[in-house]
Amino acid sequence: MSSKMPEIDPEQEKQDILKAYKKLLRSTKRNEAKGDLKLIRKAFDVALDAHKDMRRKSGEPYIYHPIAVAEIVTSEIGLGAKSIVCALLHDTVEDTDLTVEDMSRMFGDKVAQIIDGLTKLSTVLDIQEDKSLQAENFRKMLLTMSSDIRVILIKLADRLHNMRTLGSMRRDKQLKIASETMFIYAPLAHRLGLYAIKTELEDLSFKYIEPDLYDLIVNKLRDSARQRTRFINKFSFPIINSLNDAGIDYEIKGRTKSVYSIARKMKAQGVPFEEVYDIFAIRLILNCEMENEKSNTWKAYSIVTDHYVPNPGRFRDWVSKPKSNGYESLHTTVMSDSGKWVEVQIRTRRMDDVAEKGLAAHWKYKDANKGDGQPTPTENGFESWLNQIRDLLESPDPNAIDFIDDFKLNLFAEEIFVFTPTGEVRTLPANATSLDFAFEIHTEVGMRCIGAKVNGKLNPLSHNLKSGDQVEVLTSNKQKPKEDWLAFVVTAKAKSKIKQALKEENRKIAMDGKEILERKLKQMKITIDNDLTNNLHKHFKVKTSQDLFIQIAKKTIEFRDIKEFIESSRNASKWYNLLKNRITGTESRQNSALTEKPSRPRPKDKGDTVVIGDANQQMDYVMAKCCSPIPGDDVFGFVTIGEGIKIHRTNCPNAIHIRSNYAYRVVPAAWANKEEHTSFGASILITGIDDMGLVNSITTVISKDLNVNMKSISFESNDGVFEGHIKVLVQGIHHLNNLIDNLKKVDGIKKIVREDEKES
Ligand code: MN
Repeated sequence: MSSKMPEIDPEQEKQDILKAYKKLLRSTKRNEAKGDLKLIRKAFDVALDAHKDMRRKSGEPYIYHPIAVAEIVTSEIGLGAKSIVCALLHDTVEDTDLTVEDMSRMFGDKVAQIIDGLTKLSTVLDIQEDKSLQAENFRKMLLTMSSDIRVILIKLADRLHNMRTLGSMRRDKQLKIASETMFIYAPLAHRLGLYAIKTELEDLSFKYIEPDLYDLIVNKLRDSARQRTRFINKFSFPIINSLNDAGIDYEIKGRTKSVYSIARKMKAQGVPFEEVYDIFAIRLILNCEMENEKSNTWKAYSIVTDHYVPNPGRFRDWVSKPKSNGYESLHTTVMSDSGKWVEVQIRTRRMDDVAEKGLAAHWKYKDANKGDGQPTPTENGFESWLNQIRDLLESPDPNAIDFIDDFKLNLFAEEIFVFTPTGEVRTLPANATSLDFAFEIHTEVGMRCIGAKVNGKLNPLSHNLKSGDQVEVLTSNKQKPKEDWLAFVVTAKAKSKIKQALKEENRKIAMDGKEILERKLKQMKITIDNDLTNNLHKHFKVKTSQDLFIQIAKKTIEFRDIKEFIESSRNASKWYNLLKNRITGTESRQNSALTEKPSRPRPKDKGDTVVIGDANQQMDYVMAKCCSPIPGDDVFGFVTIGEGIKIHRTNCPNAIHIRSNYAYRVVPAAWANKEEHTSFGASILITGIDDMGLVNSITTVISKDLNVNMKSISFESNDGVFEGHIKVLVQGIHHLNNLIDNLKKVDGIKKIVREDEKES
């Protein structure tokens, strides 16, 4: 090992580092504001000091790495001062004594926030070293956790430099890092339109994963380079002439496919290197004003196809409709003179820049075109560019099929990534709460959860989590799942577990309630059965018997009310038993509200008829309100649920309905006496010709009858027609008829009828 280490000359090293830094400053190219340059210098000084005792695996001072990352960030991705600062500092919080707070104090909140994001990503990777975090999750996490897209871009630059310097790592490390790069970072660079970086990442990964095939292809490419140049020159010759004639300013070059994509073709088609037909493409780059871009690319296309026959199936127009990641170009494949298909890519200088550097370059052109000729993007404009990328990531263009396959990004906006106290990552849906997290950890943890510390701060169970939160669940053995938990959990797991627990809990309570009911009914000598519970839950308007028992256990239904219901039903049920005996062969559809001990045998003659006013009558009965029968009226009884027997007049307006639908519930009824000492209410309607003295005459007639009690009286007069409603208390039908006869004698009265109320 030590033999590999070069002699270290501290003074020389210092000079070399400064040289690297100066080179970085030169490649920023943009005219950074003075303040920005100062900030970059400060970041360099802080990073240099923080990493001063550290060396990379290669033995060189660590600071070369952040400088190189910063250089990639500015010259290969096209980011500005703030990103350079972050790149220089990107490993300080993770690897040195500096903290995020230090960053915030020295460089402001934005820089601190970006560095924090970068540090967190590294931490996650380290933790997952053994378990190897699922790549799909990692990609999503990368995007979700980075509130600022610069985190991703700097991370890509970091990875690119690590890949460029992978040679000094151990073989197993090389393989792990290379696979990760191939799986995660290259597709990400592709997504962001960073083609140059994507290609380099792929080639570097491939170099470590399959060194033999990599070397073979590199050698073959080198060996065939001269032959290729000759071919390209010959192919280009007629095109060049025509382009010159058309006055188009251009650059023409042959571009070989990347080593990795050649390897992929060889494998996919099972052919040797020599038989991969599109190893290279001709690229025609046009220098022109933005407003002429479209016409010039099409003009060039027309020139190319004037000389060579195009393959219509292999034509792609990304000029009229750019790819979702911003890629613009015309691709056509034409037949060369030597009988080989050749792909020709036609694009402007701007399109080429965008293709190589991604949207950062795209923005640069957009800004320059706006007028003041200054290519420096404003901070404001930069934000809008960042938003553009964010939009791109969040809503992938459905046409970008080449990408969607390996990157299901539409998912990530709906997911968050949260850390356990030991740093494990858990994926949860957006809007997930601490309680969801608790259930995610373990069902028992969820059940006993009383609160959670989020980033060290105590919060209620319903607290909404964000990506990057670290959550510590607090539990208590006394805790039980609550009904209101369902209102704020979002994961299916938490929901179903809570429901299940509540169900179990309710089942226990219901069992208690049932026991209470059984015990109390036993005292009434009643055994509980389905009919009774059904009737009870209907009566108390609860959905199920279980709800009934729960309410009994919780005393929201009191036993007093149950008792009352049962007693009134019991009266009716006596009659049902009688009815059952009476209507032979017809099973009563109406169940008794409760099952009784066999009822005492009753004398048949008496049992058949309700005798109203008979002191020995055992049934409860009431006069129906709809027709208010009075003694002497022709009546029948109707067995009701819970209200005993109702006595209706035979000519009651409801009688037909009752008799036709519930004949089996109708029982005969009779008056014990034609007249009673008690009074019954009756209503009469009087119509006649309005006369000054009419009301007076009517009241005189009524009050003359000593036994009649007038309960209410109301008169209405309309265009000379008089209408009076009178309620009286009478002893029976003869009494009432007497009164009506007397009233009929009054002058002006045309008609008197007994009134019925319409509703029963
Ligand atoms: Mn790094």
